[in-house]
Amino acid sequence: MTRSRKLSGKMTTKQLQKQVEELQGIVSEMINAMSGDLTRINMVLFGILKQNDWLVEYDCSCGQHLVLPKLDSLPMETHCPACGKEIEDENQSKLSDVVAWDNGGEEE
Ligand SMILES: [Zn+2]
Repeated sequence: MTRSRKLSGKMTTKQLQKQVEELQGIVSEMINAMSGDLTRINMVLFGILKQNDWLVEYDCSCGQHLVLPKLDSLPMETHCPACGKEIEDENQSKLSDVVAWDNGGEEE
């Protein structure tokens, strides 16, 4: 019987590498599955919000199209998540229009 590393209980670099590759495969599969789930949950959530007219959409000056949930329990987003710029100017008036609708009033 020849002495091999297999019997010594230590893994060869090749074996280790193979295990690492297997692990990487598993981890990336898990991440894929999780992000797929998240995407689905997001789609359902935004579907519900949109159907009930609980979404505010507008375009930031940086070109980012924003879709924000309009819920009593959530503070309204005041800054663009893409560029961090405060949402104001014509967007701001659009926002306050929406708030005015909510209050049942119409302001000029
Ligand atoms: Zn922006």
